[in-house]
Amino acid sequence: MIVLKFGGTSVQDSASQNQALAIVARVLDKAPLVVSSAMSGVTNDLIRLTELASSGQEAAAMDLLEKLKARHTNVLLEQTEGEIRNRTQQLLEDVWQEVGSLTRGMILLGECSPRVYDAVVGSGELLSTRLLWGRCCQLGYEAELLDARHFIVTDDHFNEAAVLFGPTNEKIARGIHARPGRILITQGFIGSTTDGVMTILGRGGSDYSASIFGSALGAEAVEIWTDVDGILTTDPRIVPQARTIPEISYAEAAELSYFGAKVIHPATIQPAVDKKIPVWVKNTKNPDHPGTVILPETPHRGPRAFAIKKNAVIISVTSSRMLNAHGFMARIFDIFRNHRIAVDLVATSEVSVSVSVDRKEEARQVIEDLERLGNVNVQSDAGILCLVGPRAWTCGRELGRVFQALGEMTVHLVSLGASETNLSLVMNESDLAEALRRVHREFFGV
Ligand code: ASP
Ligand code: MG
Repeated sequence: MIVLKFGGTSVQDSASQNQALAIVARVLDKAPLVVSSAMSGVTNDLIRLTELASSGQEAAAMDLLEKLKARHTNVLLEQTEGEIRNRTQQLLEDVWQEVGSLTRGMILLGECSPRVYDAVVGSGELLSTRLLWGRCCQLGYEAELLDARHFIVTDDHFNEAAVLFGPTNEKIARGIHARPGRILITQGFIGSTTDGVMTILGRGGSDYSASIFGSALGAEAVEIWTDVDGILTTDPRIVPQARTIPEISYAEAAELSYFGAKVIHPATIQPAVDKKIPVWVKNTKNPDHPGTVILPETPHRGPRAFAIKKNAVIISVTSSRMLNAHGFMARIFDIFRNHRIAVDLVATSEVSVSVSVDRKEEARQVIEDLERLGNVNVQSDAGILCLVGPRAWTCGRELGRVFQALGEMTVHLVSLGASETNLSLVMNESDLAEALRRVHREFFGV
């Protein structure tokens, strides 16, 4: 069997939904399970709804609710007719009843409890999948709508519940029977506690759901259908010539996603990766493009993808007391831990330590604490250039090409060798985009 996950833009209106279902129809003989996100923007609107309702803005909350209803009803009317329309409409109505009651409850109480939040915010997926199911029936496909809350079992950490894999895998394996010729449809993002209370898995959770279903069912592949041609060599907004990477390993994808490259979050595909199931990233608007496949390992070596991360700050501590002293590093990192600040990159010499942290974490208090250990120098307006490629940077020649391409640009800190995959350079923020263009041209020729 095969799992196809459609993101919000892939189901945002009736044209997109038809496009998505045409993609599913092509793999009907592979026993497809469709996992869908909410229509794009709906999850954000539902979050807004909880804010409006719980802060007593009744009129605005009701307006928003009506707007959401109208958007879904429009798709329903375009997609279905007759008896199928009636049945689908009833299914949608059940969700609106629930969301309506919860909204009135929030208005009355002037608050939104964690479990109400999850029930409201997760309902976008209930709606989109009901619409997809109706359309499948209208097109004459044999389709079954599955409620993900009966399969994805979580703890009760509302808003970002953790999946309990034991019961989840068992329920999926026992309760879901994919077979060729039939389309199964279920929701991403939602689950329920062992007591049956609805939960959500955290933003972007639909990819996670897809990979959980795929792994529990032993799928031959998990396909993540989105609005880009897979994972690109770099951010096309900075380098328009960026190209699709045909194959990438899990480790490379992980390095990239940390830098905010538009790829899926590595944690969300872990269940599929553990089972060595290939995860494809494909474009609903360009379905014949092969996209990118993420594999446990790839045989390739060499530069693969480049990304940049703005908003870095370099904090350097210099102290002669560090010379031959043990425990000095531990004391420095203790300070960061005490302030709950994540350190991105580290470089050390005999008497100094430099770290880069995200600018939003630049806390005055940390500097004061660090000053007790030595001289502290803070350099703002920095950013990180991240060059990812398996075993790409272990040869002086390749490193030479990187620095040759950067030419006169200032490099503040280099991190190499921490992983075989990643070379990171901390540079001036104002140089980052140009630095990215230069190395991209050097290694990818465009
Ligand atoms: N609809 C949810 C979100 O926007 C889950 C998802 O799309 O992955 O975060
Ligand atoms: Mg997403």
